[in-house]
Amino acid sequence: MASSIRTLNPATGKIEKEFQAYTSEEINQYIDDAHNLYQSWRFESFENRKAVMKRVANEMRKQKARLAALITTEMGKPLHESEIEIEYSANIIDYYADNAEEFLADVTLDTEKGTAYVVSEPIGVLLGVMPWNFPFSQIARFAGPHIMAGNTVVLKTASNIPQCGIAFEEMFIAAGAPKGVYKNLLVAGKDTDSIVENPKIVGVSLTGSEAAGALVASLAGKNIKPSVLELGGSDPMIVLDDADIEKVMNGTINGRLRNAGQACTSSKRIIVQEGIYDEYLKQITAYVNNMKVGDPTQADTNMGPVSSESALEKLLDQINQSVEKGAEIISGGKRIDRDGFFLEPTILTEIEPGMKAYDEEIFGPVVCIWKVKDAEEALKIANDTPFGLGASIYTENVEYAQKLARRVDSGMVYVNKQVSSSPELPFGGTKHSGYGRELSKAGILEFLNKKLVMIA
Ligand code: NAP
Repeated sequence: MASSIRTLNPATGKIEKEFQAYTSEEINQYIDDAHNLYQSWRFESFENRKAVMKRVANEMRKQKARLAALITTEMGKPLHESEIEIEYSANIIDYYADNAEEFLADVTLDTEKGTAYVVSEPIGVLLGVMPWNFPFSQIARFAGPHIMAGNTVVLKTASNIPQCGIAFEEMFIAAGAPKGVYKNLLVAGKDTDSIVENPKIVGVSLTGSEAAGALVASLAGKNIKPSVLELGGSDPMIVLDDADIEKVMNGTINGRLRNAGQACTSSKRIIVQEGIYDEYLKQITAYVNNMKVGDPTQADTNMGPVSSESALEKLLDQINQSVEKGAEIISGGKRIDRDGFFLEPTILTEIEPGMKAYDEEIFGPVVCIWKVKDAEEALKIANDTPFGLGASIYTENVEYAQKLARRVDSGMVYVNKQVSSSPELPFGGTKHSGYGRELSKAGILEFLNKKLVMIA
């Protein structure tokens, strides 16, 4: 039977490499290795952990061209975006190598009972379950902080990017990291239950869909293990009449169309006040109609394919069902007639509740636009979603934007810029977008024992 763990180039539709999943014996052995190393790694000095992680980051930069090519081959983003992702991943690892000691310093408490302080200690072997849309940086956000905290890591990445998963582990091998500190597991998502339940796994972090998150977190909860969930989003982008149109266009291009719209924090509901609506629609339509969609290895390509045949079919279904119910296609909306899984960049308007474009996360290059009278109406649509990941607000009245920011149900709000991620800024959501945080100091605090020491 063909393996589900394989490289199927979405730009050509061809299978390039297939992998055998590890046996449960192999997986248990790798978890044992991670557990054994943890006994010493937990007491390793920050200086020594830092030296290992700095070498990992350097190795990534050295091998940037090879790693970026793997990303592009396996999930189809333009090569220049893949190169940026490798740089960013190395920066995340550097950030925690440089700051972990300070973030995890003992905290002295004020009490009349004696001398008291809290020590931040690691807890053991962690499982990361990661998606394909940012093959390297998603892993870096998980492995970077938690390894620096003294935990060890086993990692299961999505089945369609096995070579990226293997390459991430190769960075640790090339850096001379001790065996067990980081291990890539070749295993299908549906076969991960026994890993979550393995008593030596003490916590799990999943980035992906609501369905996978709910399954993994419920199993973790049943086994009294902490979890972090970074799930989907239907992020609002609110554009008010006084917004700077150039910033709005940059926000749409970078925040909706980059990565072929396959980002959790992509602006999936663009809500525009009536005074700027016509100008915005004119400019975004002109941009979309001129986009170069095609071979992601070419330097002038703006957008590559979507990740898979099934992803493309789902997008077409979401578009078609919405149009049947009255949504209007301003541009695009069809599969591009060539090998691979290409969707025309699409603009949809006249979207109402009951349509898939309103009710579901649209994980692809579909610009969904609403026209509203004022900020109150915009907020109503912005919050009318089960998700709550990021939001962006465009207006030159920054004071007013900050007032609106407090009324949006989301984990992050960016003003006059698309929601993005940066090592020093916390990242995560609320509602069905998950719980817990990645990046910044908050990200390293998720899997720790905050131990109180009290001297009477
Ligand atoms: P997905 O199907 O949930 O896959 C994500 C990961 O979960 C993959 O490694 C997958 O493995 C695994 N998985 C699937 N079913 C599982 C199960 N029953 N038990 C354990 N693991 C399981 O999601 P996706 O389509 O790859 O990623 C897109 C989604 O991720 C979108 O909703 C997006 O918004 C979200 N996302 C969120 C963030 C964030 O930070 N909030 C960032 C990026 C993406 P297999 O591939 O082997 O099935």
